[in-house]
Amino acid sequence: MSRQKLLLFDIDGTLLDTGGAGLRSLKQGFIDAFDLAHREAEFPRLDLAGTTDGSIVDALFALFELEKTADNIEEFYSIYHSHLETGLANRPAGEGRRLPGVKRLLTHLRNETDHVLGLLTGNIARGAFTKVEVFGMPGFFEFGAFGDDHPDRNKLGPIAIARANERFGIQFHSNDVYIIGDTPKDIACARACNAKAVAVATGSVSEAELVALNPCFLFTDLKYQREAFLEMLAAD
Ligand SMILES: [Mg+2]
Repeated sequence: MSRQKLLLFDIDGTLLDTGGAGLRSLKQGFIDAFDLAHREAEFPRLDLAGTTDGSIVDALFALFELEKTADNIEEFYSIYHSHLETGLANRPAGEGRRLPGVKRLLTHLRNETDHVLGLLTGNIARGAFTKVEVFGMPGFFEFGAFGDDHPDRNKLGPIAIARANERFGIQFHSNDVYIIGDTPKDIACARACNAKAVAVATGSVSEAELVALNPCFLFTDLKYQREAFLEMLAAD
């Protein structure tokens, strides 16, 4: 059996696509948390791909000149999260999906290998676990690094690795850490901690754009390229 690896998965565009409920909940959560309905027109267009909820907080608090206190941040996260839960539960039929092949791959990794699975995502922790659960993947992930750990995604790799080391009593070498995601920011995040950048072209970024960034591995999806993904882990 190959050496034990640490696999850190991004969520949106990699494991699942909320189909808009995530963005709607962020916006409505912010408006409701700070009574900003009268300023809705000033709300910027948010590009969520690869970003962190923490960096969105930074940008929105600055734009609306709100004080960035722990209480204010928690107020926003808590209202955002309750909108997310309701929004996902009541989303229109056909909106949002788990991405093809993901559950089968995760099941195989959990049952047939001793690799460690974690999350590395810009979502706040409670939002991350809600999304994973709503889209039928509860129990695959017990830990990770999240958008409320640090607003800079490039700081999340070392946090996730430290948590894995502590939790499993292993010292993962950066060569054995794979960061799997759908955007250039996931690739940058892997490079920032010398982990292996594994790009998947299942999100909003085209395969050509990802290829141009020269990730260690690139998969068009995790369904038809499932075997190739497993071979990647077995190869070294
Ligand atoms: Mg993503």
